[in-house]
Amino acid sequence: MPAADALARVTIPADLLPRDGRFGSGPSLVRPEQVEALAAVGRTVLGTSHRQAAVRDVVARVRSGLATLFDLPDGYEVVLGNGGSTAFWDVATLCLVERRAAHAQFGEFGAKFAAATTRAPFLEPSHVVSAPAGEVAVPAFVDGADTYAWPHNETSTGVIAPVRRVPGSRESGALVVVDGTSSAGGTTLDVAQTDVYYFAPQKSFASDGGLWLALASPAAVERAARVEASGRWVPEFLSFTTAVTNSRAEQTLNTPAVATLVLLAEQVEWMLAHGGLAWAAARTAESSGHLYAWAESRDWATPFVADPALRSPVVGTVDLAPEIDAPTVTAVLRRHGVVDIEPYRKLGRNQLRVGMYPAVDPQDVRALTACVDHVVAQLV
Ligand SMILES: *Cc1c(COP(=O)(O)O)cnc(C)c1O
Repeated sequence: MPAADALARVTIPADLLPRDGRFGSGPSLVRPEQVEALAAVGRTVLGTSHRQAAVRDVVARVRSGLATLFDLPDGYEVVLGNGGSTAFWDVATLCLVERRAAHAQFGEFGAKFAAATTRAPFLEPSHVVSAPAGEVAVPAFVDGADTYAWPHNETSTGVIAPVRRVPGSRESGALVVVDGTSSAGGTTLDVAQTDVYYFAPQKSFASDGGLWLALASPAAVERAARVEASGRWVPEFLSFTTAVTNSRAEQTLNTPAVATLVLLAEQVEWMLAHGGLAWAAARTAESSGHLYAWAESRDWATPFVADPALRSPVVGTVDLAPEIDAPTVTAVLRRHGVVDIEPYRKLGRNQLRVGMYPAVDPQDVRALTACVDHVVAQLV
């Protein structure tokens, strides 16, 4: 059936559809209860000063909730600022890397941070190890590197990487800085293996974008203080030390998106009420376990990540056989309210990418694959 015809003719019966059709990898599904909680504080918190108790209490809920959720090691603290994870790459380039960074890149997001330190005129050329999309690279010890960086979950490909200190790096005083933007909150982690584990709220934390959050070790806080005092020009907006000072006062340097903070606090407390990170990780493992098993059992679908140990529990990528046009499948689904399962644009594959963060009900992932089966049966 030609694509245009299929778009108009293929319908999905209502009883097959997921209860919530949002499967984006970020922004991602925000639970209706979070939105209700936001509406409830609409007159007392929204539209009020971020320097006063009402909003600072929300920041405090976020910071203490995350500290509990991640079981923060002694001395670690939760730091936040405006600008999302993309801004944090610049914060880290300016304030955390002293002379030279070593990166592992295996997709768009890891590559962007590597590009940021590589371009910085005050740093030595970065050391970068790469792996092709769908595989993983981890940095090995590099003489002279003072910062090691890689993404925990490469959202553009659906690969999950190990988070552990690079052997020899601790002895050399190097920091480990891991991008947890999409993994944080959806999978378990030993924070002590990192000095900075940073993320944004619009993925596993089911909030809106615009903020960065970082779990920072004392070594990271000290490093930033030293680098920033060294004479390097650091714009105040990108100063890690300024963010630390403001965070300790339950504030941000400049005005934050208060609604984002409320949605985030609600999601962190929802996870804690259900059993914390282990519970959230079990939920994403159930969703993703189903997705990958389903893809393996269809002769027209294959998990894009060949090694099962590297398949992400939170962002699943599934290649479709060439005779099944993925854009047609996603367009039919979109017409039925099942949205955002298009692949990462620059990957350019005939693929579905499914966000399975903790807010997504595993039952809905089962419903999603049933819908894809239904659409594909009508296309071939
Ligand atoms: C989404 C994402 C980012 C970018 O986050 P922004 O908040 O939009 O800047 C960075 N890294 C990873 C791994 C991501 O998934």
